[in-house]
Amino acid sequence: MGASQPLVESDHHVHLYGCLTAQDLWQLGKDPCKRDEGLLAWYAQKYLEAWGVRPRVEEYWSHPEGASLLQGDYEMRQPGNFEQFQACFNLIIALVPKNPSDISVLQKVLARVRSYGLVFFEPRITFPLRWSKHQAYQCLDAYAHYLGSSKKSSKPEVKWMLSLPRDLKYAALHLSWLEQWCVERGTSEKIAGVDIAFDERGCPPSVFKTFLQERLLPARQRYGWQLTYHVGEEFSDKSMWSAIRWVYQSWELGWTRLGHCTALGVNPQLRYGQSYTEPWQERVTHLRWLLQHHVELHREGFVLELAEVRHQLKRLLQSPGQPVVSTYLDKDVLRLRLFQRAVARMLRRREVVIESCPSSNYRIGGVILPQDHPLAFFTRFQLHTVWGTDDPGVFATDWHHEARHIAEIKRAVASIYLPAGYGETNVF
Ligand SMILES: [Zn+2]
Repeated sequence: MGASQPLVESDHHVHLYGCLTAQDLWQLGKDPCKRDEGLLAWYAQKYLEAWGVRPRVEEYWSHPEGASLLQGDYEMRQPGNFEQFQACFNLIIALVPKNPSDISVLQKVLARVRSYGLVFFEPRITFPLRWSKHQAYQCLDAYAHYLGSSKKSSKPEVKWMLSLPRDLKYAALHLSWLEQWCVERGTSEKIAGVDIAFDERGCPPSVFKTFLQERLLPARQRYGWQLTYHVGEEFSDKSMWSAIRWVYQSWELGWTRLGHCTALGVNPQLRYGQSYTEPWQERVTHLRWLLQHHVELHREGFVLELAEVRHQLKRLLQSPGQPVVSTYLDKDVLRLRLFQRAVARMLRRREVVIESCPSSNYRIGGVILPQDHPLAFFTRFQLHTVWGTDDPGVFATDWHHEARHIAEIKRAVASIYLPAGYGETNVF
């Protein structure tokens, strides 16, 4: 690796099971006695729905080219949407060991991380919804025993996070198991914090407001945990305007680290000409938020026509329930960039940390060129950013590839899209 390329020393956003390679999955499914045919049929059906092609799953382990077939289906090497990503990830769900005490995946992944030379690794794990408290404890005990037995000086230093589902009932249950386990075992060592992952569509940050304030913030005080939140990654359920606002609102509520925030940084020109539909309630919330924050937005260079915003809000309130259908035109692209810039400046002053995932954003964020990547924008506007591979197995990447992406994106920072008249001297 050339001296000009940054070495990725830490991975701060990575899902443990998403590290499994196609070859790992093929090996896991090799023994027919260990395969769950029902789960594989579910994977095949979901894959067909997302990609429009049925995977030849019955040939993965019977055909001479089966391993290549599996690899072709599992690895998402071209840009796609979140459903397509999830359809690939479902193969992991179908094949991983079902015994909660099984730490073979952790061992395998850490061996790889060690050979690369990372100094810090922060994998996220999750409890399947079908697990009981006893099974969750078996998993926590196994992780604590394995990670606790490694020498303090050995690299990488590993601290893991628990990813909670978007479903509040399960999120509360899984958090309570984790906290009870910490109390009963008298340790929270090796736990970096708690994350909210999974599909964010239809789940505005306000859904977690009470849970965050009553459960997570006290846990942070007790254990010093990071509270991380996947947001602004997938916004096909609303406008890019609202997706940018969701990023800011997540910080406002108290999350300490925000995952992806693609909407905040991606070049809005990529959306030019595309149509979107925004639910009525989302648009009402957005217009009210703009009115509440217009002074700060103005100070950061985003000027609102207040009379126009009030007029739009009044019209919406007169016809409740009607979704807003619109298209991103030239003026929207320009205004979106100014809105991104204003919100970035507001966040920068509050020292929020964004977890940026280069390959993941290329594949799911519809980004082609490095200057359009959210990380280029975050770098230009000096937001505090850490990096992650997210699901390197699905995205067919590793830390070498990510280091190259990061170097390429940083070289492209000067070329990011900024509206005319908002050049270098006016940026800050
Ligand atoms: Zn993630």
